[in-house]
Amino acid sequence: MPSHQNVETFAAVDPAYLSSQKSAAASTSEPNRNHKYDPKKPHITETPLTRRNWYKHVNWLNVVFIIGIPITGLIAAIYTPLRLPTAIFAVLTTSPPASASQQATIGYGHTPPTRPPWWARDHRAHHRYTDTDKDPYSVRKGLLYSHLGWMVMKQNPKRIGRTDISDLNDDKVVQWQHKNYIKVVVFMGLIFPMLVAGLLWGDWVGGIVYAGILRIFFVQQATFCVNSLAHWLGDQPFDDRNSPRDHVITALVTLGEGYHNFHHEFPSDYRNAIEWHQYDPTKWSIWVWKQMGLAYDLKQFRSNEIEKGRVQQQQKKLDQKRAKLDWGVPLDSLPVMEWDDYVDQAKNGRGLVAVAGVVHDVTDFIADHPGGKAMIKSGLGKDATAMFNGGVYNHSNAAHNLLSTMRVGVIRGGMEVEIWKRARDEGKDAVYVKDGNGTRVVRAGDQVTKVHDPPASAGAA
Ligand SMILES: [Zn+2]
Ligand SMILES: [Zn+2]
Repeated sequence: MPSHQNVETFAAVDPAYLSSQKSAAASTSEPNRNHKYDPKKPHITETPLTRRNWYKHVNWLNVVFIIGIPITGLIAAIYTPLRLPTAIFAVLTTSPPASASQQATIGYGHTPPTRPPWWARDHRAHHRYTDTDKDPYSVRKGLLYSHLGWMVMKQNPKRIGRTDISDLNDDKVVQWQHKNYIKVVVFMGLIFPMLVAGLLWGDWVGGIVYAGILRIFFVQQATFCVNSLAHWLGDQPFDDRNSPRDHVITALVTLGEGYHNFHHEFPSDYRNAIEWHQYDPTKWSIWVWKQMGLAYDLKQFRSNEIEKGRVQQQQKKLDQKRAKLDWGVPLDSLPVMEWDDYVDQAKNGRGLVAVAGVVHDVTDFIADHPGGKAMIKSGLGKDATAMFNGGVYNHSNAAHNLLSTMRVGVIRGGMEVEIWKRARDEGKDAVYVKDGNGTRVVRAGDQVTKVHDPPASAGAA
């Protein structure tokens, strides 16, 4: 059985190798291209769509399969009573939509109007070039385009990204299915359900309408939702640089393929949902088949790898949140004050208090000080490092954070400035922890004003 494990190995390919390769656009001579396609003639998609030529831009075969037949079925359903055995039969034969990772294991089902290797090739291009112009159904071109538009309108074969489907071309079963696709679809999709419902409980018309046409319609729409809804609705727990998303609604609609952010990050993993309580009947089916010996070589990423991705994405979100908060003026942007100048200003009525070499203007906070006005006033114009750090009261983490928003200067030769200057002179910035965006991280207990062993005597009086 083919597996699409080639897809994610692209990430590991040496860039030098890639640049030595021909254009990443699909080769015009690739097998499985429409044999009528002549690369020398301009493709219809290269001529602008007008009132006269619009019908040439339409992929009529696909229109028949994904719009024409379903509409016929819906109209026929109005005149066809739905019988219980037919309804049960239709539900039981609804196969999970087969995306390439599942196609590899499940076989292809008969969902897409395009033939299996084409579907797989487009799917691989979608993974390799997600959201770019080479993505055959990029959601950046609109939700409807990613759902249906890309099939209803002809595609320029030169635009779709190039991917390796040699494994599928070499696979006899796939090639047989490719050659006999329309026959297989018509027989398995329409005639077989009609025969079952007709011969077993006499519901010939219901068999073809409900268990045939409308069931296919449902599975088609479910599959298309993987390309549209799963790139539009939900969270991005593993990476938010591209559009794939996780959402329970998409999972319900697509029989489990709604955890699409996971699927794009770990494409060869046979699962979409990794939590037991998440809805992924496709995964459950594959698992059952494995127990029956019908599926094998199921791929799974180690939870260590999965958790790393999750933690990094959480970190990124956290960094964005932190960057929006006021952590006080950066120390290196604060003016340097002489000690005597600080004392003078405090004496002249400015509510200045120095903690760990940093000067804070607490004038507006004196009335709100939880420990009382007198207490905070006793620190004005002094080195309040020890008072603040336990000499009088060991202030809370929140107090250190709040204090940092009031800082207005640093004392020349003061403690923190010294550390900062020394680090700068030595060309190190290891003194400060920084996030991925270069924003300084201030951890609880790591505030400048937090001094763990303040000199016992200083300023405590
Ligand atoms: Zn996929
Ligand atoms: Zn996708």
